[in-house]
Amino acid sequence: MEPGPLTEELNAACAAVTLASKLCKTAQASLTKHEKQDKKDASPVTVADYAAQAVVAWSLLRAFPDTQLQLVAEEESKSLHDPESAALLERITELFNATVNNGAGAPPASAQEVTQLIDAGRSRGGREGRHWVLDPIDGTRGFLANRQYAVCLALLEEGAPVLGVLGCPNLPLEGPITAAALEADAWPDHERGCLIFAARGRGAYCARLFGPDPAPRRVRCRAGDDRATAAYMTSVEAAHNQQGLTDALARAAGITAPALKLDSQVKYGLLARGDAAAFLRIPRGGYREKIWDHAAGALIVEEAGGAVSDLAGQPLDFGLGAHLDGVRGGGIVAAAPRALQATVVEAAAALEKGCG
Ligand code: AMP
Ligand code: MG
Repeated sequence: MEPGPLTEELNAACAAVTLASKLCKTAQASLTKHEKQDKKDASPVTVADYAAQAVVAWSLLRAFPDTQLQLVAEEESKSLHDPESAALLERITELFNATVNNGAGAPPASAQEVTQLIDAGRSRGGREGRHWVLDPIDGTRGFLANRQYAVCLALLEEGAPVLGVLGCPNLPLEGPITAAALEADAWPDHERGCLIFAARGRGAYCARLFGPDPAPRRVRCRAGDDRATAAYMTSVEAAHNQQGLTDALARAAGITAPALKLDSQVKYGLLARGDAAAFLRIPRGGYREKIWDHAAGALIVEEAGGAVSDLAGQPLDFGLGAHLDGVRGGGIVAAAPRALQATVVEAAAALEKGCG
């Protein structure tokens, strides 16, 4: 990518996500069942989620020492202060220290310093100023099951994403990503690890996440609109998506292939790389989407030439705080080309009318 506005921020974001992705890969290789907790909403969180969040905060604080960090991030250290979490906190601190290099001769960070980093810059987001937005491990269930997951970092300016970075440690650098290939999970280790990033107005790029060749290549969404060969993506987790409804919308839009199921914002990344044509998500009633589950991915898709909206066709509003409130039509569609997104929105309106 040519240098331009926000180059310094983009480089810092890519470095932070790369470091956190390395930590996740290391932690995954030796993860035990004791290194996981269940949050109040029953979703899992692991030592790697906490340690990756601390690593990203540490990286951003180090890159911009003179700026007050404003960070909207998924995890908080509260539960780690319980005496029964002592072993967990010890492991988080160990992972953090094994990943960051505080400088020659500097002492390792203490457990207390690591909890302070987890809570660093705690911001509620909003429409004013700049806010970093982080999901340290999007798709924790995928991470636990050795499927796909992503370290997701975005920068909002005045409530709109201007930078988006996805670290996808388990994603092959090149497609095709088919259901059979995902099922077999047959990619050799050296082909896995993809960093996907975008800056507003400057396109989307993909680079090797680990290893010696970081030269990024420009990525673009699928240009043609052959729906007979188009792949459409949804969540692996049945609880996260009303599969029957998204299947109905895909079929109404002329997509014939069954859904390709993937965890995390890797789905936005694959859309941006042209490996799939659409990503549909209709959560079950009452679920409030969070900005860290969409901000980075949505910008990357738009910069790769795709379209992202709610199912009423309105743009997503990332300036309302940590929650992505204001989603109309019950869900989100990301698709390319734009005509496909428009057809899905029309199909959603028709489905609602038919049901109403
Ligand atoms: P995915 O991998 O696409 O299913 O999305 C993973 C994200 O879904 C997680 O990071 C959670 O923030 C979010 N999530 C958790 N519970 C729900 C739910 N009940 N409905 C929709 N999304 C959820
Ligand atoms: Mg998430």
